[in-house]
Amino acid sequence: MLACTHSVAFNGIDVLKISIEVQISSGLPSFAIVGLADKAIAESRERVRAALHSMGLALPAAHITVNLAPADVVKEGTHYDLPIVMALIAAMGIVPAEAPLGFMMMGELSLDGSIRPVSGILPASVASVRNDMGFVCPAEQGGEALWSGNGTILAPRNVLELLNHFKGKQMLPPPVPVKNEAAIPLLDLQDIKGQESAKRALEIAVVGGHNILMVGPPGSGKSMLASRMPSLMPPLSSADILEISKIHSVAGLLKESQLITTPPFRSPHHSASTPAMVGGGLRAKPGEISLSHGGILFMDELPEFARQTLEALRQPLETGVVSVARANSHITYPARFQLVAAMNPCKCGYLGVPGHECTRAPKCAEEYQSKISGPLLDRIDLHVDVPMVSPWDLGHVRGAESSAVVRARVRNALAFSADRFKGRTAQKNAQADGVELEEMARLTDEAKNILIDVAQELMLSGRGYHRMIRVARSIADLDMSEAVRKNHMIEALTYRKPVRKRT
Ligand SMILES: [Zn+2]
Repeated sequence: MLACTHSVAFNGIDVLKISIEVQISSGLPSFAIVGLADKAIAESRERVRAALHSMGLALPAAHITVNLAPADVVKEGTHYDLPIVMALIAAMGIVPAEAPLGFMMMGELSLDGSIRPVSGILPASVASVRNDMGFVCPAEQGGEALWSGNGTILAPRNVLELLNHFKGKQMLPPPVPVKNEAAIPLLDLQDIKGQESAKRALEIAVVGGHNILMVGPPGSGKSMLASRMPSLMPPLSSADILEISKIHSVAGLLKESQLITTPPFRSPHHSASTPAMVGGGLRAKPGEISLSHGGILFMDELPEFARQTLEALRQPLETGVVSVARANSHITYPARFQLVAAMNPCKCGYLGVPGHECTRAPKCAEEYQSKISGPLLDRIDLHVDVPMVSPWDLGHVRGAESSAVVRARVRNALAFSADRFKGRTAQKNAQADGVELEEMARLTDEAKNILIDVAQELMLSGRGYHRMIRVARSIADLDMSEAVRKNHMIEALTYRKPVRKRT
């Protein structure tokens, strides 16, 4: 007897259709799964056997071969349990062979036959619509599958329910839609008094999509500032919401079938491993840089991250995607995030703090800063000092601006600059380089002369020169000025990378 069901394999968040063919033939009793299956799938045999047993069924004493096709696609994960057991049940003649054919199926089996949640339901269900097929998923994830708009979704609690549905004995009810709960309000800029220049830099960073580095002593509020950045960003489009939610689904992080509707903010600890940051590992998973796609990756104490991790950031910062090596292949995940990095001025953190002293100055600062490579610093357009603010200073600060006020300015600036990006590769000022940048920037002669003077005096590199033009362009956008004027350039120059002092 031969029977077939369908499931999916993942390449990043892209989905490939997989066929599961079961053949039962006479011969010595055996049960083999073939077709480039990983260890989790090999273990699937035991779960399948136990799930059948729980329903009072036994594997036929025959030669059983399960083939996952196409063979050259790497298949990882436990979600093949359900399509394997259904193909077996069909091959055993318990349900009509054609009944499960029109479905893509995903689910991990418990030993008692119940179906457990798996990752990747959202992208897989979207793919089922594209393939014009129904979709079968674990009961708890019916709501997540419904976001795909597929009209034929089955969400059984256990194998028996699905078996009875396919036999026509007891039909499964459609899954209950989940409503996306109102998003938790984002942290507001209003909570932070003072730090006006850092706030201004964040605003510019959001407009131009610039990466930013904040330098200041511990306790100066760098983390507080960074965590307010999502509240300055424009709302996500529905396409963004779907793409970001797909990434989180593949990572198994979509909670209670809720879509991600606000820009992500991720702040991994500096002890995070390189696979945890960029993706991959034993089982392919998106890393922190992909989980912050469409939002903010905050790296506090940047120099404390492993050198290997910092180097691995360069490619995604350049291209917006990350490629993760697997045994025989590469997997690509989206990784268009905005980097907000923070660091102390020196290793001990006391350099330049009133009432304290860095006893190892200037070595303490030099060694610390040198941990960040030049090529990585080249991808950071904005450098801003975040000094310690004393309570006495704050006593004089009037009420701070709310995020809504800043967001409105950001929205105006983005609307003002939108036409400029039509038909270009760069979609934000930070992505513009070389000829494209020169075309887009529209520097007045005055602005250009100031930049040239400073570039000569500080021996600014070509990249450093372009960084300043990009930042000045974003400042001009906030000002809704077609041309980059003198005052825009002067402000941009205040955010330049400090020249490393030599002893
Ligand atoms: Zn120090």
